[in-house]
Amino acid sequence: MEKILIVDDSRLQAAQLKSILDGEYDITIAQTAEDGLYLTSMGKFSLILLDVVMPGMDGFTLLKKLQEEVIGQSVPVILITSLTDEESEQRGLMLGAVDYITKPFRPLIVKARVDTHIKLYNYRKQVEYQSRTDQLTGIANRWQHDRYSIIRWKEAARLQVPFSICMFDIDRFKAFNDTFGHPAGDKVIVSVAKIINSHLGRSTDFLARYGGEEFVAFLLGGNSEKSFAHLKKIRQAVEDRHMPHAPSVAEWVTVSIGGITLIPQTGDSYQAALKIADNMLYEAKSSGRNRVVWMDEDGKQLFEK
Ligand code: GH3
Ligand code: MG
Ligand code: MG
Repeated sequence: MEKILIVDDSRLQAAQLKSILDGEYDITIAQTAEDGLYLTSMGKFSLILLDVVMPGMDGFTLLKKLQEEVIGQSVPVILITSLTDEESEQRGLMLGAVDYITKPFRPLIVKARVDTHIKLYNYRKQVEYQSRTDQLTGIANRWQHDRYSIIRWKEAARLQVPFSICMFDIDRFKAFNDTFGHPAGDKVIVSVAKIINSHLGRSTDFLARYGGEEFVAFLLGGNSEKSFAHLKKIRQAVEDRHMPHAPSVAEWVTVSIGGITLIPQTGDSYQAALKIADNMLYEAKSSGRNRVVWMDEDGKQLFEK
């Protein structure tokens, strides 16, 4: 059930609203702006109904705070007020409220407006999800990688923690497709994504499909020794899955991996580091495939085999 938060100092008014929406929505009530702020940061609400006139922090101030500190523009906020003057309606909408409900409540109208905004919210969430997800594998797509990597890279530079970037590429995959067909190839891509993903369990780990049969990942925190060891484990896990390859090229499907670990300095380019990871991948390919080649913090290359 969708969760809705009502922030209203009047118990009676909040109860009225709750009775209009109960049954179809899971309603939480906050009686002060401060509680509203706290609950919003804790719960996953699809909509917030916010009273404008409250003692202490008023609805306009709370709306601004919510948007700046907690929800951004992501969760729709509907303002509730008995003020029918144009000025406060205008102020609320300009602050980013999606709609305005005036007291006394007309249940059918309140319900219809809430339904509409919940629908729009869900639709937008779905579109956002699709825009950052690779359809075949369900992991992040390249666009999401481009966006997210910059955020995490800057964070690592600020906190001065090691950042590892790795590129994966399935070995001799063209031969696989030529032998077994494209749909079978797609299944292998999905399996490889799953295997890699299952080894990247930390909240700071990130994996995306970078291109056809290429993946990119980054990890935060571990030094090159740890990252290199971990990526060797992932490479081995793909090999050990024993997915039959085209007999003309290899027994099992394998991946080559290139990576780099470094502590980014402010102003360092993520793209330049990614390029080095890609160069390491090229080295892994040219030195025999099914291996990891890494560049450590001192610029020294580490070869698996
Ligand atoms: P290498 O070991 O050098 O990486 O050899 P390769 O054959 O994997 O390299 P190449 O880049 O020449 O070919 C990549 C192949 O991956 C081409 C195409 O047949 C296949 N491929 C790319 N994207 C997809 C996809 O979405 N689905 C399937 N099934 N195959 C794909
Ligand atoms: Mg490739
Ligand atoms: Mg390949």
